Amino acid sequence: MSGTTNRLLIRASDATSWVMCIRRAWFDKHQPITEVKPDAFMQFLFEAGLAHEASVLKRLSEQYLVCRANSAEHTLELMEQGAQVIYQGRLVDSEMNLIGYPDFLIRNENGLYQAADVKLSLSENKKTTQIQLGVYRRLLKNDLPAIVYLGDNRIAQLTGDDVDVSVDQFLASMKQLITDAQPPTVRYSYSRCETCPYINRCLPEFVRKEETSLLYGVDGNMADQLAQIDISTISQLAKSDAAFIPDLPHLRNERKKTRAIVQAQSYLTGKIFQLEPIALPEGIWIHFDIEDDPMTNSRVRHVYLWGFLVPSYTKTSFEYVWSDNESNDYQGWISFLQKIEDYRHRYTSIVIAHYSNHEKATIKKYAQRYAMGNDKTVAWLLGDESPLYDLQKPILNSLILPIQRYGLKDICKNPNLVNFQWENDESGSQWSVVQFKKFQSESDLTIKNFIKETILSYNRDDVTATRKLEMWLRELSQRNDFID
Ligand code: SF4
Repeated sequence: MSGTTNRLLIRASDATSWVMCIRRAWFDKHQPITEVKPDAFMQFLFEAGLAHEASVLKRLSEQYLVCRANSAEHTLELMEQGAQVIYQGRLVDSEMNLIGYPDFLIRNENGLYQAADVKLSLSENKKTTQIQLGVYRRLLKNDLPAIVYLGDNRIAQLTGDDVDVSVDQFLASMKQLITDAQPPTVRYSYSRCETCPYINRCLPEFVRKEETSLLYGVDGNMADQLAQIDISTISQLAKSDAAFIPDLPHLRNERKKTRAIVQAQSYLTGKIFQLEPIALPEGIWIHFDIEDDPMTNSRVRHVYLWGFLVPSYTKTSFEYVWSDNESNDYQGWISFLQKIEDYRHRYTSIVIAHYSNHEKATIKKYAQRYAMGNDKTVAWLLGDESPLYDLQKPILNSLILPIQRYGLKDICKNPNLVNFQWENDESGSQWSVVQFKKFQSESDLTIKNFIKETILSYNRDDVTATRKLEMWLRELSQRNDFID
């Protein structure tokens, strides 16, 4: 198939880019980047997806005669012959320039085929999956629901008017994108642009235009509404007066308006602004961070590491609870609660500091999972006198920083802010999950222990980072030379 013909085709898989960003879908068709090296987590997901597909293939092969298709013509032949299950079929509608590659085509008792795909989960990229499967249904020209074989062994069926509306929008938009000579104009969005292969093409343009959605707290909708009142650039926003900005659907209260303006000033000047005094709780601080695995067989998150940094906050002050696998999840949880009780006895008046709500939310989920809401340690951790303290709160409440994201690493790694560097530059929560999976599958004890050490070292750096952040905030709360 020639490059031009290829470009004119709409593939069901184009939905992946299209749902993320229509500009990305345009680049895919007109100026694609073909050499994209997936990061370790994406590679892990890819391999887990292949393994899941192989297990579904095995299961279906035990029940039916499965025929593998090798072309669109071969798929049609197999369908005409009434093959029970067709693996890797190719469906084409040349009038619509539409093509789809369902993982399986399954013949029902009426001789009609249902498309089926294998997905690890539906929660992520649900819209993409709906459109892909909706396109298969169009190509099959029947109304049978499409099937999804999920990673936790559940089978979902997709159908409905909503899906048809999304498919219509996708097809009309893709037709237009294929014809357009220039990429569509879209707003910058950190969450979708950060991992996009075309970031180096788009970001300079966003920066040159001083796109307001480059700012923390300003999303595309807010940027559109600001543009309607002639605030289209970061400089214009920085010079604005909150009192004269009307209430907008995505920018209603005075505080939010002030934050957006000061964030624009911080972006332009690199300055830290303090809006309110920083008040940190008194007590003995213990820094706390968890590592959890969302890719369990049951898809229920399993905390494999509960990590702590205790006084005197040196490398040797790192303590932890480790849980090898999902089957000893409960023992890990109980050991965590015992450790909390140990700290209660060891120190008077403790503050258990963590960054963001994830740790507290996880404790709540574990309390529900094991029906332990009335346990005295759990009740203390989650009650009115809770020692848990989210260090992100004083930052969000009191400070405006010259950065795009207020994550722990964004603040701590920045040389102009906390300036704490992780020993392993590649490490992160997804990296940790990949290492944990390697740990679980490794049979050589020496290698296994080495992997565990690297995960512990990463977690120790995380809790050390929150300690450094605490110290930085304490210092900042004493100073006033930067306050405008
Ligand atoms: S970098 Fe952002 S705007 Fe550009 S194509 Fe990717 S997602 Fe779209």
